[in-house]
Amino acid sequence: MPALLNERDLQFLLYEFLDAEALLARPRYADCSREVFDATLETGRQMAEEVFAPHNAKGDANEPRFDGGRVHMIPETKAAWDAFAEAGFLSAHWDADEGGLQMPEVVLRVAMAWFQAANAGSSGYTFLTMGAANLLRSFGSDALKARYLAPMGDGRFSGTMALTEPGQGSALADIRTMAEPRADGSYRIFGQKMFISGGDQSLTGNIVHMVLARIKGGPPGAKGISLFLVPKVLVNEDGSLGERNDVALAGLLHKMGWRGTTSTVLSFGEKRGAVGYLLGELGKGLSQMFQMMNEARIGVGLYAACIASRGHQLALDYARQRPQGRLPSNKDVSSPQALLVEHADIRRMLLAQKAYSEGALALCLYASSLFEDQHTHPEPQARRDAALLLDLLTPVVKSWPAKYGCVANDLAIQIMGGSGYIREYLPEQLYRDQRLNPIHEGTEGIHGLDLLGRKVVMQSGAAYLLFRARVNATIAETRNNERLAELAEGFPAPLSRLDEVTSQLTALLAADPDRALANATVYLDVFGRIVAAWIWLRLAQAADAASESATGADRAFYAGKLQAARYFIVWELPATAPQLDLLAAVDAIPLEMRDEWF
Ligand SMILES: Cc1cc2nc3c(=O)[nH]c(=O)nc-3n(C[C@H](O)[C@H](O)[C@H](O)COP(=O)(O)OP(=O)(O)OC[C@H]3O[C@@H](n4cnc5c(N)ncnc54)[C@H](O)[C@@H]3O)c2cc1C
Repeated sequence: MPALLNERDLQFLLYEFLDAEALLARPRYADCSREVFDATLETGRQMAEEVFAPHNAKGDANEPRFDGGRVHMIPETKAAWDAFAEAGFLSAHWDADEGGLQMPEVVLRVAMAWFQAANAGSSGYTFLTMGAANLLRSFGSDALKARYLAPMGDGRFSGTMALTEPGQGSALADIRTMAEPRADGSYRIFGQKMFISGGDQSLTGNIVHMVLARIKGGPPGAKGISLFLVPKVLVNEDGSLGERNDVALAGLLHKMGWRGTTSTVLSFGEKRGAVGYLLGELGKGLSQMFQMMNEARIGVGLYAACIASRGHQLALDYARQRPQGRLPSNKDVSSPQALLVEHADIRRMLLAQKAYSEGALALCLYASSLFEDQHTHPEPQARRDAALLLDLLTPVVKSWPAKYGCVANDLAIQIMGGSGYIREYLPEQLYRDQRLNPIHEGTEGIHGLDLLGRKVVMQSGAAYLLFRARVNATIAETRNNERLAELAEGFPAPLSRLDEVTSQLTALLAADPDRALANATVYLDVFGRIVAAWIWLRLAQAADAASESATGADRAFYAGKLQAARYFIVWELPATAPQLDLLAAVDAIPLEMRDEWF
C-alpha cells in the first residue's frame, strides 16, 4: 500500500511554502518548537496509518445500524475516537489555561490531513466535535463551559452542528425549529433536524448539539434565529450525567459514501421540549454559527484535498507497477511491455490529479495560515488583511477542492481502468466519499452566489482589491526570476478579464440581481481556477528557491512541483477564457428557460 499522503509534500507546504517556523516568534507559541510541531505531525501520521486506515473499507461496508433503541457501529470506530482523544488532538489548539496545547491552527490542520486521508467516516466525528467546542469556547457562558467544554476536549462528549431541517437546507434563514424561553433562563426546543452528522452514535456518553432555532413570536428571517446548546443527556452542576434530554433519533440515513459517519434525523421536543441553553446573543444565532461553518468550510476543502491526494497516491502506485502495451515508437512486439506510468496519456491524468490535489492542499493550508494570522499576527493591519482575504476566499477554499477533488478521484479510476471501477480497490470508495464535498457546508451553487453576490462587493470591493494586489505582487516577483518569468505571462490576460467581468456583473447586481447572479457558479469556477493558478505560481516560487541547493530525492520533488505548476498554468488556466466570454455576455439562456420547456 502506498503512503496515505505524500509526507514530503506536507513538510514542503508547512515549512517552505507557509514558513510555519516563523510562528514560533509569536508570544502564543513561545513554548512551542519545531520539534513539537514535527512530533504532532508524526503522531498524526502513525495513528492515521495504524488506527484509522485499517478499518476504512470495513466502515464503508458496515454502515452504522439503528435498532430502534441504539446505534450499532463497528468497534474500530470507537477505538479510533478514543485514540484520537487520548492523544490530545481534540483540544490541541485550545489555550493552555483551557487545558489545550496552544498548537497553531495550520500545524493542527496538517496533522488532521492524515486522519482525513485515512478514513473520512471515522474522522468525521472528531472534526465536528472540534468545531462545536470552538463555538462553545467563543459564545458559551462560564457556567456552560464548566459543564460541557472539558468533556468535549477529552473525548467523553462529542459535538454536532444541527442546522438543516427536512424542509430547509440552503435557506437557513427559513428554519422552523422553535425555542421557548423558561423561567430558569433555559429554553425548550421543538422541531426536527435532518442530515445531522454524528447526531447519534455509540462512541460517547453524551452528544452536544449546536442547534439553530427561532424564538417563538420573534422576527422572521435570520434576525429571529438564535444558537442553542442542546445536550443529548443533561449534565448536573457537579459534571455528572443527569437525565436523558428530549432529543430522539428518528432514524439513520443511508449514504453513497462517507458511511462511517452517522447521518441522522433528530427530533427535538417530542415529549416535553428539549432543554437548550442560549449561546451568545438572542437573534445572532446564524452569524455566530458562521464561525463553525467557516471553520468547517476550510475543513471540507481539506477533506476534498486529502481524499483526492489519497486517490492520486493509489493511482500512481498502480501505474508504476502495471505493464500494459508499448509506446507508439516501439514496434517490437517481443520487447517488454511499458508500464502504465510511461504512457503520455496516463502521465497527463496523473499530472492533472497532482495539480488538483496538491494545489487544493496548498490552498486549504494557506487559508489556515490566514486564519492563524487573523488571530495571532502581531500587526493589527496584517490581522485585518488576513481576515478580509479569508472571508473572500472561503467559498473558493470550500468549493474548488470539492469540485476538482471529484475530478481527481474520477481520474484515479480512469488511470486504473477496470481495477479502478471494482470494489476490491479503494478508488471506488474514495470517489463515493468525495462526492459529498460539493454538497455539504453549502452547495457549489450557494458558494457561487456568496462569492459574486456578497464577497467581491463587500466593503466596496476591498477584499477583491486586496486579493488582486497579492496576485500582482506574486506576478511582479516571478517576472524578475528568469526561470519563472514565462509562467507569470499566463496571468495578465485572465486577470484583466476577471476585473472587467467582476465590474460588469457587480454593477448589474442592484438593477437586475437575477440576471447578474444567473451564472454565479461559472464565476466561482473561473475565480477558483485563477486562485489555484496563483497558488501554483507561489508553489513554483518556493520550489524554485529550494531546488538549486537540493540533492537526491529532493531534486525530483522540486522538479515535480515545477512541472505541475507549468501544467496548471499552461493547460488549465487558459480554460477560463471561454468562461469569461460567457460571463461577459451576461448570457441568460438558463435563466430564460421555462419549466414547461423541459
Ligand atoms: C452526508 C451529509 C452530511 C451532512 N451533515 C450535516 C450536518 O452535520 N449538519 C447540518 O446542519 N447539515 C448537514 N448536511 C446538510 C447539508 O448541509 C445540506 O444538504 C446542504 O446545505 C444542501 O441543502 P439541501 O440538501 O436541503 O439542498 P437544497 O437546499 O434543497 O439544494 C438543492 C439544490 O438547489 C440549489 N439551490 C438551493 N437554493 C438555491 C438558490 N437560492 N439559488 C440557486 N440554487 C439553489 C443547491 O445549490 C442545490 O444544487 C449534510 C448533508 C449530507 C448529505
